[in-house]
Amino acid sequence: MSVLSVKDLGFRYTKDGEELFGGLSYEFTPGKVTALTGPSGRGKSTLLYVLGLMLTPSRGEVILHDQPQSMAADAIRSKVRAHQLGFVFQDSSLDPSRTIIDSVIEPTIYAGVDRQVALDRAALLLEQLGVAARSDHKPGQISGGQAQRVAVARALINDPSVILADEPTGNLDPANAASVLDIFCEAAAAKQRTIVIATHDPYVISRADEVLEL
Ligand code: ADP
Ligand code: MG
Repeated sequence: MSVLSVKDLGFRYTKDGEELFGGLSYEFTPGKVTALTGPSGRGKSTLLYVLGLMLTPSRGEVILHDQPQSMAADAIRSKVRAHQLGFVFQDSSLDPSRTIIDSVIEPTIYAGVDRQVALDRAALLLEQLGVAARSDHKPGQISGGQAQRVAVARALINDPSVILADEPTGNLDPANAASVLDIFCEAAAAKQRTIVIATHDPYVISRADEVLEL
């Protein structure tokens, strides 16, 4: 069964603007980490937004669990997004007014998970990611590497089958980059998740199972 693929994909920000992806067809492999590479401006971030159903393609399809998403109503798309997809952005931009644990459980609200169940799950994830001791801190009180691990916990909290990450090691030192990659590789292998990382970091590319160059 296919988890995530695209067919004849193209996207334009404006009607007469440049078409990104040029009719891309590709099947992402479950259980693998795919590095999405290519020069700056080629559309890596945009492709993550399209895969994440935040932008609608100008042509072609995103197919998630065998369902072409262009046919889906907005309400279905939001539901799919909440349950099947996890996102990690470059500068994890956690809400400065919330504690770490509250940031991690926020996506569960949209997925309709009971708060106590969510808190237990978040505590376990933060423990696995080595930031449990920071649960009741605010983002200003933790390091960049810790913030990125919190962002990964947030992405994993709804147990998504697909994780989309945009330059997740962009601001990390080599040790933190390695630990984030360990987490992604384990998340892919342990639960057959499909992981797509937009990056131009040679280290990430060296750790990826597959490379899709735009
Ligand atoms: P990458 O992540 O590979 O650097 P992006 O997906 O950010 O590439 O951008 C691809 C192209 O789309 C670039 O030419 C960029 O200027 C353009 N672009 C990105 N975001 C927007 C936007 N919101 N409106 C119009 N053009 C955009
Ligand atoms: Mg980008």
